[in-house]
Amino acid sequence: MSETANVNSPEYWNSRYVADQVGWDMGTPTPVFVDVLEGKRFEPGKTLVLGCGRGHDAVLFAQHGFDVAAIDFSSEAVRDARQRAREKKVRIEFVEEDLFDYSLGLVDEFDYVVEYVTYCAIEPARRAEFAIAVASMLKTGGEFIALFFPLDDRSGGPPFAVSMDEVQRLFEKKFELISVEAPLHSVTSRKGKELLTVWRKQ
Ligand code: SAH
Repeated sequence: MSETANVNSPEYWNSRYVADQVGWDMGTPTPVFVDVLEGKRFEPGKTLVLGCGRGHDAVLFAQHGFDVAAIDFSSEAVRDARQRAREKKVRIEFVEEDLFDYSLGLVDEFDYVVEYVTYCAIEPARRAEFAIAVASMLKTGGEFIALFFPLDDRSGGPPFAVSMDEVQRLFEKKFELISVEAPLHSVTSRKGKELLTVWRKQ
């Protein structure tokens, strides 16, 4: 993938959706989140799915009784996601906006923020800003459920390589790390390259 792509712009992501160059999209909900929800680890609550793409995980959380909002700044992605929610007959509040801008207007809004393949999609220089944005979206005591990928040393992106050392350094300023686990059911090509983490906002 191009290293010069302007990943800060919705136009870049729209062009990927229009060309159907969406290697990140499994066409199904994320199996790791299916396990988490079927295991009833979290009481349903007000939830924001970040960079929701075509909406598979937003629909999954809504089907498990969570009150879901889902944000993505790609109009193409949100259009597909809305359609999916309609087909699956779940109510989701879709927000077509840059998540950094959206976070500025929020104070203590959500019980949960869910992350998969969005942290690695933003410009790496904005990761500290991303951690602050997530903190401002959550209520105190609220939880950030983040499946971090790709934990490797690839160069360029998106997806840009993620390191748990960096994640810890950025998030421990405002969060307590509750759990870290290697998921049982990662998609085959991502096995060994992702960790499921849960953080509580202090
Ligand atoms: N989570 C989805 C999509 C991952 S691709 C999935 O797993 O299928 C990353 C998504 O984040 C894209 O849909 C892109 O449009 C969105 N995105 C990237 N930067 C964003 C930003 N600053 N604000 C909102 N959405 C963003």
